[in-house]
Amino acid sequence: EAKISRFNGYVPINGKDMSNYAEMVQSARETFYSGKTRPMDFRIKQIKQLRKMIEENKSDFSGALSTDLRRTKFENYVLEVDFTINECTHMLRHIKEWAAPERPSKTWVNVFDEVVIHKEPYGVVLVMGAWNYPLQLTLAPVVGAIAAGNCVIIKPSEVASAVAKLIADLVPKYLDNECYKVVYGGVPETTELLKQKFDYIFYTGSTTVGRIVREASNKFLTPVTLELGGKSPTYIDNTADIPITAKRLVWGKFINAGQTCIAPDYVLCTKEVQDKIIEECKRVIKEYYGEDPKESPDLCRIITTKHFQRLAAFLSNGEVAIGGRTDPSEKYIEPTFLINVKPTDPIMQEEIFGPILPFINVNNAYEAIKFINEREKPLVLYAFSKDSAVQNLFISQTQSGAVCINDTILQYSVDTLPFGGVGMSGMGAYHGKLSYDTFVHPKGCLLRTFNFIGEFVGSSRYPPYSETKLKL
Ligand code: NAD
Repeated sequence: EAKISRFNGYVPINGKDMSNYAEMVQSARETFYSGKTRPMDFRIKQIKQLRKMIEENKSDFSGALSTDLRRTKFENYVLEVDFTINECTHMLRHIKEWAAPERPSKTWVNVFDEVVIHKEPYGVVLVMGAWNYPLQLTLAPVVGAIAAGNCVIIKPSEVASAVAKLIADLVPKYLDNECYKVVYGGVPETTELLKQKFDYIFYTGSTTVGRIVREASNKFLTPVTLELGGKSPTYIDNTADIPITAKRLVWGKFINAGQTCIAPDYVLCTKEVQDKIIEECKRVIKEYYGEDPKESPDLCRIITTKHFQRLAAFLSNGEVAIGGRTDPSEKYIEPTFLINVKPTDPIMQEEIFGPILPFINVNNAYEAIKFINEREKPLVLYAFSKDSAVQNLFISQTQSGAVCINDTILQYSVDTLPFGGVGMSGMGAYHGKLSYDTFVHPKGCLLRTFNFIGEFVGSSRYPPYSETKLKL
């Protein structure tokens, strides 16, 4: 199996081939310098191949996603398969426009010169995906990296092992084997891989591992994008439309069983709003998932027993207002709302990343903003209010990767909005044009001629200097 390829296939999990990582990266770098990835036609062909790979194996991908997360076909298609296909299509539609050199404005000093910004691919890029949306979080950045003309080492998360294996099997069959390689492995393999010199690292996952990636990248001053997590707050005030808020909140919190980096992490509201929203959410949960959510095919399970145990321990925080039941044998946690939670409780100390939603009572928007600003900058901030002054207050007085007013998650689907965190929730952003720009260095180029007038105009810079020249 190890021989699928020293370079072309994937390096298996047993670590036997770890010593090949240096060679693998070196061979990718040589391919990059051969110029293979530069022609536009080549890049377009590879993105089309990537799209074809997903289209032709849709049901296998959906099956693998269900194996890893017991996720329903609908969510697999909408949130991952179709999403990644659309990323390819969107890139193909715009790649020529985004790749075109830019000609910024210039002053009279450069009137005879060409002033151009060339989009230069970095070289060999490492893309590391996370397990919660293992297809799109791994391959959507790859679309940008390929489009920009890089060679790419793809490292899917071993935690979603069925999807990781499928990516490792399929990529060599569809994409150019010299330019794009998959490494399948866990922590030891990734640790070894991170010792190599990459020209760019794009990482999606937890803040803890984000730090490890950043430290490793420091050795070669490799630029990084870190797509991390955090506790995304949700403020609801008494002007919000409660039935609509409840529908959007329950959907955004419980898709993928809350294992979504942009899921609402906790709610800030008054006691009165809390009572109303909880009553309505009880009804909505029943509408979405039936009398017993455990029987619903539309509710995912927790990825591993370790993750399940971490989440189950949170259920003793505060008081259960909705749900609260678990089944360890299925790694099932019922959609749960917790009230009377204290800010010092364990559930408020780390990103929840599961189907549990705690409520913290505040008296008004100002208190909510103070609460948010006392903590790390989140990936997203959600606020539900009809009052535009309140909406603007949250936009202008808090810091977060993004803001979504009166809905959840949907900011992610807008191609033209940057997706990324700030502070502890990450650095850098992608989606749409930014997916292209992330993977190129904007190389400023000044092209001069030997034109006599140009030389005359610039000649005052040469010594010997004088007071007269200073005035020019
Ligand atoms: P994970 O465990 O799958 O880790 C992500 C990657 O890091 C994997 O490729 C994994 O192999 C690697 N890794 C894990 N431990 C490592 C180590 N010690 N050394 C080197 N590499 C290591 O995923 P996770 O970190 O559990 O993902 C969940 C987190 O990711 C949550 O915090 C979530 O908010 C965040 N997330 C962020 C985004 C985003 O786009 N901003 C998207 C999804 C998830």
